[in-house]
Amino acid sequence: MAETKRRLHQPVFRATVMRAYETRCTVCALGHGELLDAAHIVPDSNEAGIASVNNGLALCKIHHAAYDVNILGITPELIVEIRKDLLDEIDGPMLQHGLKERHGQKLMVLPPTRSERPDRDLLAISYERFLSGG
Ligand SMILES: [Zn+2]
Repeated sequence: MAETKRRLHQPVFRATVMRAYETRCTVCALGHGELLDAAHIVPDSNEAGIASVNNGLALCKIHHAAYDVNILGITPELIVEIRKDLLDEIDGPMLQHGLKERHGQKLMVLPPTRSERPDRDLLAISYERFLSGG
């Protein structure tokens, strides 16, 4: 029952997040909807993980995956952090530009409407999980 309810909300959640972020990844500003997801800050398996725009981020596929596995974290102050072991690694352009160079940078795209921006408490829950490595 809860599962059905969640699924029904997904298209609305996606549409709301995409509109709020003007169809751009908040981390890298990529602007192609086909490559973007509406990500949950706190996953919907968590009680706090509601399908609200304040619990959402527009993320490209790579940044979404990196966020979900705690390779990429976002502080409550909206700063991107990359997991330490990746910062020490030397590899191709995706690691260099897509991940390492985002470390310490502010989110590039935020909803112009203040009430639609990411919730600080939800970011704190997620950032805590990032710091603990999962
Ligand atoms: Zn991105």
